[in-house]
Amino acid sequence: MKIKTRFAPSPTGNLHIGSIRTALYSWLFARHNNGKFVLRIEDTDLKRSQEVSLNSIFHGLKWLGLDWDEGPYFQSKRLDRYREVINIMLDKGDAYKCFCSSTQLEKIRIDLIQKGLKPRYPGICRNLKHKDILNQDYVIRFKNPRTGKVIFNDIVRGDIIFNNQELDDLVIQRSNGMPTYNFCVVIDDLDMQITHVIRGEDHINNTPRQINIMKSLGVKIPIYAHLSMILDEDKHKISKRKNALSIIEYYKQGFLPEAILNHVVRLGWSCGDKEIFSILEMQELFNLKSVSKSSSIFSTKKLLWLNKYYINNLSITHISCILKKYMLEKNILINNGPNLESLLKLLRNRYHTLKEITESCRYFYQEFKDFNKEAAKKHFTIQNCFVLKKIYQKIKKLIVWDEKTISGVMNNLSVSMQIKIKEINMLLRVAITGNVFSPSISSVIILVGREKTLLRIKKAINYINATSIKK
Ligand code: GLU
Repeated sequence: MKIKTRFAPSPTGNLHIGSIRTALYSWLFARHNNGKFVLRIEDTDLKRSQEVSLNSIFHGLKWLGLDWDEGPYFQSKRLDRYREVINIMLDKGDAYKCFCSSTQLEKIRIDLIQKGLKPRYPGICRNLKHKDILNQDYVIRFKNPRTGKVIFNDIVRGDIIFNNQELDDLVIQRSNGMPTYNFCVVIDDLDMQITHVIRGEDHINNTPRQINIMKSLGVKIPIYAHLSMILDEDKHKISKRKNALSIIEYYKQGFLPEAILNHVVRLGWSCGDKEIFSILEMQELFNLKSVSKSSSIFSTKKLLWLNKYYINNLSITHISCILKKYMLEKNILINNGPNLESLLKLLRNRYHTLKEITESCRYFYQEFKDFNKEAAKKHFTIQNCFVLKKIYQKIKKLIVWDEKTISGVMNNLSVSMQIKIKEINMLLRVAITGNVFSPSISSVIILVGREKTLLRIKKAINYINATSIKK
């Protein structure tokens, strides 16, 4: 039988690291086994489902390259199918209408808790003689077996056993007619011929309920793999309602999909000591048997390290195509400066994210308003004004325009004027970039170009003149 996995998010929050790992493992398992990967949107909770979450799911998966072979299926569009099966179950006596009111149920719940018992529905309507009570709201419950056990072999966690006594008669259709999550999942996994259900450990308690429904329908039960928690660096569980960043946020922060997938794949899975995995390697090497039962820690530091690795190791043409989008989003007109490949060659080993590169390269493309005040105060002295004038003249006359010639000019000046080369470099850095951080200033000058360089030196000279008059 062909392997088929699914990713089944509820659109009630953003796509975050935990759900991405579920999606990635399901996708990898399908790809590794030449199987199929299905995308299903679990949106029966219409009140909590949001358009923005849906967009985050679709955009996020596409951006990461986790392509699906079937779907997206929407549970909200399959209501007729669920009702059809519920009716069959009612006819067969595997489900029943429950007319207990919420006040009645609450009273039962409190009584049981006071007696020190686990609150569960005691099955009052299970054997009702008159199955239809006119004009009274009802839910539909599954008749869970009262004896015996549910045993399933979880690929990650081994045998998991539940006593049926612990499970009560689950509501499979609410009083408003909407089928519930645990029921829809069963019908979907069945209809979509899912062979392996890979999902978070928070669903372990649902699994025996789902298996019992499947057994009552007489269908083949999929294989389960429940993934352990992901914690943040403070050892708190990452959850979409609390501390999880949306995947879109990682894009905005300048991360590459390769880095995210590489970090996420290692949150629970390993292959020897190997740290770096290309997507192809992941597909080739991934298996569920090596997924660990222990929780894992999402580390922003590690992600930054991987991102820097990929910025430096993926093809420069590829990275510059992506960088172009960031630049446009920040209104940096790339035609006004060096081509992005040359820029990346100069900058890429200095930064961890494309956002940092974007923020730090503006001066190559557009004039900055002010010099860094501290730096100007320190370096824009009257004596240095004279140095700048000299450099201006030399640069203007240069015939050969390369890094070696530029640094030659500065070295000669350093000797002839007896000024430390470090001081000349910093003076020029402030004049040309407006600030005190940049790669080697001669390489910056080459990319900024002669015209802009001369203009900025002039601007610095004027600044010194203006401020010295004030003094
Ligand atoms: N919709 C569920 C969730 O977002 C997943 C259900 C499942 O994988 O069975 O947590």
